[in-house]
Amino acid sequence: MAQPREWVGIQQFPSATQSRLHELLGKLKQENVNTLTILVMGKGGVGKSSTVNSIIGERVMAVSAFQSEGPRPVMVSRTRAGFTLNIIDTPGLVEGGYVNDQALELIKRFLLDKTIDVLLYVDRLDSYRVDNLDKQIVRAITDSFGKGIWKRGMVVLTHAQLTPPDSLTYEDFFSRRSEALLKVVRQGARINKQEVQGFPIPIELVENSGRCNKNDFDEKILPNGTAWISNLVNTITEVALNGSKPILVDKKLIEGPNPNERGKMFIPLILAFQYFFVINGIKGWIRDDEALETRSAWEDRD
Ligand code: GDP
Ligand code: MG
Repeated sequence: MAQPREWVGIQQFPSATQSRLHELLGKLKQENVNTLTILVMGKGGVGKSSTVNSIIGERVMAVSAFQSEGPRPVMVSRTRAGFTLNIIDTPGLVEGGYVNDQALELIKRFLLDKTIDVLLYVDRLDSYRVDNLDKQIVRAITDSFGKGIWKRGMVVLTHAQLTPPDSLTYEDFFSRRSEALLKVVRQGARINKQEVQGFPIPIELVENSGRCNKNDFDEKILPNGTAWISNLVNTITEVALNGSKPILVDKKLIEGPNPNERGKMFIPLILAFQYFFVINGIKGWIRDDEALETRSAWEDRD
């Protein structure tokens, strides 16, 4: 593969953001993480490509208001001071109201022999409902890469610069939206109540629009004042360093059985065990019974 390009986009950021990003890259390198591969997934039109552009600080991905994304994933790689950042943008996972299994299949093949350090599951903040389709998307991701991907997963909500409806405060609106979405993510990923602690799944807000408000340091900010680019990269860093295993996409993962259902391979074995111990056991009792019966019949006769 060609040598990745120098991350020049980082110099486009205001200096406050630049120094924060350098600090975070330093933290990763200190923990011997010299490469970070981020996988970006979600429905079409939610702002995946825009978010990739925002993080890189360059217009690398085509952004479209009218879903005309290419059918294939694209990886951008940038290096900075011995550190390599890879971001994989993917086409939307929904087609005609259903999960697009073909798109997912292409993504899996694209990822062969790559290691996913962080999954960004992107949706919009300004959507007012979650439905079964959201759950199906999360389930499809889970079935493709294993439940463990959600230990490396975070939710990113775009269009964060909004005025909440119904006189809700921004904080209330955000917490309602994130709770509803997280609930569906946990259901889709089959994370039960006892497991929630092992799957923190942080949520971060993003405003990709050029009209995003800025602070005195010229950093793009959320309505609550947070400089969101460095905040987002900070959370990505935390996920990358949270001690869970990154997801290596190997042949076994792609071609093998659904990684969440490998246990099912043991079913024939379990059945065989049951046959020997249960069925043979029952046969044994029956034989004993027969023996008893013969004896009693014989006794009766006498
Ligand atoms: P993708 O299909 O998920 O890759 O979405 P795109 O990044 O192509 O964005 C779809 C449309 O939403 C484009 O018109 C973007 O300009 C717009 N968009 C993306 N993110 C934001 C955001 O955070 N705020 C606003 N206002 N528009 C956004
Ligand atoms: Mg796109």
